[in-house]
Amino acid sequence: MAVVKAEGYGHSLELCAPAAVRGGARWLAVTSVEEAVATRKLCPEPRIFAIGSAFAGQGAAVVEYNLTPSVWEQEQFDELEAAARAAGLGPGTLPVHLEIDTGMSRQGVAPEDLAPVLARFTPASPLRFEGVMTHLFAADEGDGGKTALQIKTLNDALQRITSAGHFPDLLSAGSSAAVVCGWAERLAQLAASHGMKLMMRPGLALYGVTPRIDPPYTGEEPATLVATRKNLQPALTWKTRVICVRPIPAGAMVGYNGTFIAPKPMRIALLPAGYADGFVRLLGGGRFSVLAGGRRAKIVGRVCMDHSFLDVTEIPDVKAGDEVVLLGTQGSETVSAYEHADATGTIPWEVFTRIGPRVDRIEIE
Ligand SMILES: *Cc1c(COP(=O)(O)O)cnc(C)c1O
Repeated sequence: MAVVKAEGYGHSLELCAPAAVRGGARWLAVTSVEEAVATRKLCPEPRIFAIGSAFAGQGAAVVEYNLTPSVWEQEQFDELEAAARAAGLGPGTLPVHLEIDTGMSRQGVAPEDLAPVLARFTPASPLRFEGVMTHLFAADEGDGGKTALQIKTLNDALQRITSAGHFPDLLSAGSSAAVVCGWAERLAQLAASHGMKLMMRPGLALYGVTPRIDPPYTGEEPATLVATRKNLQPALTWKTRVICVRPIPAGAMVGYNGTFIAPKPMRIALLPAGYADGFVRLLGGGRFSVLAGGRRAKIVGRVCMDHSFLDVTEIPDVKAGDEVVLLGTQGSETVSAYEHADATGTIPWEVFTRIGPRVDRIEIE
């Protein structure tokens, strides 16, 4: 199941959903029913999973667009059952995946609260209990303790489900970190022991970024992690172009409030990328560099809504129209998503998803 929520992690749903399908994904996952409908309009073939279930009033769209929602709350069952009946669907025809809360306290039902939820899957219900899902929330931790506990809780839930006479086909568990850290084998065994097939849900890794392991492994790293780090290539490069290059004298002020004052004669390249594009203000003030002429150059002064200032004093060839790489590789230098994340107190997921809608997304191969 390829996760393409939040506009394909900011890379563009329109490009990424069909690319995932071309790459062999038979399931796509997004968060909301709205995102799922948008995905269905791009991709008629694959199963489309809405991680976030359906709000009241959205059941009709789930039926009309052949979507598969998660469920765990009584209201979600009510909505989906009513929509299925209104559309004339017979018993066991609208597939849903029951989410189990195995420790994150986000979505899902705890194993001990399963009884009233399982009671909704009656032979007369139009809902089909196709899958069980859970979210492993700490698979990026090298000691694996929380994940082992979650798997134990999941096993408990699966036992309760099968003893109540329900036999769903699919177990959906594990995002990129779980895939990369080699949890698939253990999860596949768990699925098989309950007569189910395992489905993993990577997101970040599909975009070519390996999750950082924190805390790191104390012993040997799993072979899957070593191989992933070696083989994954980031899919996204974020480029802009120099508007103009301005020679400024020593003492000139640069940007709002003149927070940068040139200590010597300098050359400043103006870039049409600002915080409205997701090039956030935290990147200003000489703390961060991007790539021009194949070399690193510092962002100086305050990042504006639509512009930023690049010190190209030491890169004399840079001129109007030249390409500048804000994230990605130019020549032998790379600015990684983790570098952006570390400079701004966040994670690559947020770096990608905050790249604004007015930045064109172009597929290059
Ligand atoms: C976002 C998400 C994923 C994918 O997570 P990555 O860490 O990007 O691989 C998988 N499952 C659920 C439920 C999610 O919300």
